[in-house]
Amino acid sequence: MQRTAQPFEVEPGEVLEKYYEVLLRQFGPQGWWPARTRLEVILGAILTQNTTWRNAALAIARLRQAGFLRGSRLRRASIADLEACVRPAGYYRQKARTIQTFVRWLEGFHRGSLDALFAQPPEVARSQLLALRGLGPETADAILLYAGKQPFFVADAYTRRVLARHDLISSEDGYLAAQRFLHQHLPADEALFNEFHALLVETGKRHCKRQAAECQGCPLEVFLADRKGTQPSRRSNVFRPRSGFRPHPRREGGVKAHGSE
Ligand code: SF4
Repeated sequence: MQRTAQPFEVEPGEVLEKYYEVLLRQFGPQGWWPARTRLEVILGAILTQNTTWRNAALAIARLRQAGFLRGSRLRRASIADLEACVRPAGYYRQKARTIQTFVRWLEGFHRGSLDALFAQPPEVARSQLLALRGLGPETADAILLYAGKQPFFVADAYTRRVLARHDLISSEDGYLAAQRFLHQHLPADEALFNEFHALLVETGKRHCKRQAAECQGCPLEVFLADRKGTQPSRRSNVFRPRSGFRPHPRREGGVKAHGSE
């Protein structure tokens, strides 16, 4: 009797594990977030909305020059001063207001203490951040992951593009659906989320561009060429991490977990 071949299915978690390993081998540790303190991470997360990191870095440099990377000085900054500093990042009125809103809220609600903010249950801290004007899920999660060391995957446009082009999510999926997928299939590991997200951004910048995917030479090309055995079943939601699935040890020079504010 002829037997019907069963489709070969791979758990999404195993696929993600392979992607992570290949990207890390190819690109190396990314050393995110490029900042000296947690406050600088937070300002960077706000400033990089809808612009390049290069423009956000210019704004950060101006804030540094003005002495506004110190919490005590930033709290006293006028909106006009902030607008002048953050102008290179675009949407400068909105971003200056968001920075001021955050700083005033932190002062009023947590006595200016980032330790107090991040000592709360992560979901509580997240909902507080999301309630602030100007902070959406992507910015809130970047703050929680890169400044607070909390395992929230930043499912930004780069991440969603790569996942969708590999049929891991739908191209219609938005931020929350993509994040849910990643949280469902990856161990909740802050260091892993940090590095994996940075690697996916690098992939998006170098190869998986918005206009077109430049697959030739992309580290993930192999997964397109050999779909058999590398594509997951969307029906499956069981993650079975191998013991070796661990993030790369951190590189020196990233943000200090307890840096001065
Ligand atoms: S460029 Fe091609 S191979 Fe690379 S991530 Fe995008 S779709 Fe995949």
